[in-house]
Amino acid sequence: MPSAFLQQKLEAIKEISPNRAEILQKELGVYTLQDLLFLFPFRYVDKTTFSHIKDISSDGESVMLKGTLFNMRHVKGKRSRRLVANLKDSSGIIELVWFQGASWIHTTLEEGMIYTCYGRVNIYNGKKSIPHPELEAIAGGAKVKTKLTMDPVYHSTEKLNAKGLDGKFRKKVIQKIFKKMDRAELYETLDPYLVEKLKLCTRFQSILWIHFPQSQEQLDEATKRIKFEEIFFMQLRILLSKERRKNKLKGFIFESVGSKFLKFYNENLGFELTGAQKKVMKEIRADLGSGVHMNRLLQGDVGSGKTIVGLMSVLIAIDNGYQACLLAPTEILAYQHFQSITEALKGVSVKTAFLSGSVKGKKRKQLFQFLAQGDIDLLIGTHAILEDPVTFHNLGLAITDEQHRFGVIQRAKLWNKNPAGPPHILVMTATPIPRTLAMTLYGDLDVSVIDELPAGRKPVKTVHMTERHRPEAIEFMHKEIQKGRQIYVVFPLIDESATLDLQNLQTGYDDLLQFFPKPDFQISVVHGRMKPQDKEAEMKRFVDHKTQIMVATTVIEVGVNVPNASIMIIENAERFGLSQLHQLRGRVGRGADQSYCLLMTGYKLSKNAKERIQTMCRTNNGFEIAEVDMRLRGHGDIQGTQQSGVSDFKLISLILDQVIIETARNLALLILDDDPDLSQPKHALLKAHLQKMKFTIKDWGLIS
Ligand code: ADP
Ligand code: MG
Repeated sequence: MPSAFLQQKLEAIKEISPNRAEILQKELGVYTLQDLLFLFPFRYVDKTTFSHIKDISSDGESVMLKGTLFNMRHVKGKRSRRLVANLKDSSGIIELVWFQGASWIHTTLEEGMIYTCYGRVNIYNGKKSIPHPELEAIAGGAKVKTKLTMDPVYHSTEKLNAKGLDGKFRKKVIQKIFKKMDRAELYETLDPYLVEKLKLCTRFQSILWIHFPQSQEQLDEATKRIKFEEIFFMQLRILLSKERRKNKLKGFIFESVGSKFLKFYNENLGFELTGAQKKVMKEIRADLGSGVHMNRLLQGDVGSGKTIVGLMSVLIAIDNGYQACLLAPTEILAYQHFQSITEALKGVSVKTAFLSGSVKGKKRKQLFQFLAQGDIDLLIGTHAILEDPVTFHNLGLAITDEQHRFGVIQRAKLWNKNPAGPPHILVMTATPIPRTLAMTLYGDLDVSVIDELPAGRKPVKTVHMTERHRPEAIEFMHKEIQKGRQIYVVFPLIDESATLDLQNLQTGYDDLLQFFPKPDFQISVVHGRMKPQDKEAEMKRFVDHKTQIMVATTVIEVGVNVPNASIMIIENAERFGLSQLHQLRGRVGRGADQSYCLLMTGYKLSKNAKERIQTMCRTNNGFEIAEVDMRLRGHGDIQGTQQSGVSDFKLISLILDQVIIETARNLALLILDDDPDLSQPKHALLKAHLQKMKFTIKDWGLIS
């Protein structure tokens, strides 16, 4: 083992005083030399190609020139003297200026010599100059002998710059680290056959070249290797922990499909399952019968029919003598599930109950008792289900709907709801997760996808409108209401406590009242600050078609199902994220009628907002929307990525590097298939590195 030079504190480098170390720590979050070494440049200044002086056109541009130095002179300014010289190439002449060290610099330069000149161009009143250029004489006059390189540029902050710890300083420190460090400290992490197979440079080279590439090729090599490593070890870790869980965790065996399932399937289900639904049912049935614990993510766009799949899984559990529960993120959604499932199960003897924070007192107590005795087969509700006093008799299957709203810890609670072992887990989400993100985020879940909508659905027509179109929009609403349709009007409510937003909603409601006066028209209002009972009551009036318009905040975002509602109007649409817009739009288009989504915005839109609106108008495809969303927001912002380690990636982009990601994933699968615990000598380096990582990375992969 080489001396752990890289593990030393920053002060190990002479130029870094304790004071400076503290600033670096605060500003960059670096503690050791290794930390510093692994902060890569974010761009490079190309010093490998020369510009022509006449082509220089932008202020602040960094250029590399080659030319003859002439007309060097001192110029007296108001306060001080400066040194000025001209550089001439075949295309033109540019002025070079030194404000400091003029006398000394004068002595180092020689007129008539050819120099390479590097610096940032200043254009002032049409006049081009380069202050404090780096000049290097070309020996012999003609041939370039100096090693031209790409100069690393590091992210810096104002504080760092003020303290002289800018990019240039960092570059010097990194150079020093390389000088002092034993090569072996950047030990190889990939076994030789892999390096060869993947045609990668060595790890040492990759880190050296990412800082100091001598050519674009070297930079590409370094980038390729580092990106690959980032994703490859993550995939190995995920797959290993998944494997471990599978081997360790036994699952309840639901042997047979029984009478309840069959009755429902043959008598209650009013439609043919789509091919995708059938495929997913098969996958789930295989899991449930296998004796292995199921931990499955069910992905499907809004309206693709996930609930039925969930419900049929529930029936399998109940048929085999187990209880099941279904969790939804909001009370409205949970209650709607409860209602629609009770309805769907008519005639099938399943004892279903509802639990949320608003089920109180005696009712609550009794429910707990029934549940513990096994007198309830299926419990549907909110987070309240996770609370400690809620005990099941024999929980065999837990389904969470719209999973992205549940935290890891909450999900872990589900695992402990049955002392005999963890219930099977089915996580349903309508958030279309781009393939590459799913591979990393949910790498330890098995993923099923419903990629087909029930037949006969008409895609929602989406249009962008501004205030100017308001009269048109109102007229359109009148027409559709006359046809018997219902309309959602959604206002942004980013923060449920934001009074301003509530005022917005109130004003919007008042405006609508003028165009749709009582008693001919009825309008429901639902927002997050209302009491649950009032919310329910308002929702119900809309569901029962007692009102034509529902004015709401995003509380209706997930899951509500009113097939007769065919218009979705989103006010201040520019304030919503893409995935939220898509979720909202998913509330319509559930019936047989043509549905519409109107996106109302102000006149002036940011570039980002414009793209969001255009994307919505262009496509109904949730996956396509998710890709754009990820590109616009960056993957770090996407829910769930925080604890996943994805946000730690330095170079890899989940959007642009799909090929690398898939290569890494497939290779990891192949390796573990052949050598599940990496015990073969040919994987010694992989194993050693993974073990090292264990101590530096929180183990986030174990829980679904
Ligand atoms: P999701 O939860 O995936 O958004 P739902 O399960 O709420 O979708 O289903 C949306 C609507 O489509 C429901 O009214 C449901 O009854 C109906 N549905 C589901 N599967 C089918 C199918 N195969 N054929 C026709 N309608 C279906
Ligand atoms: Mg749903």
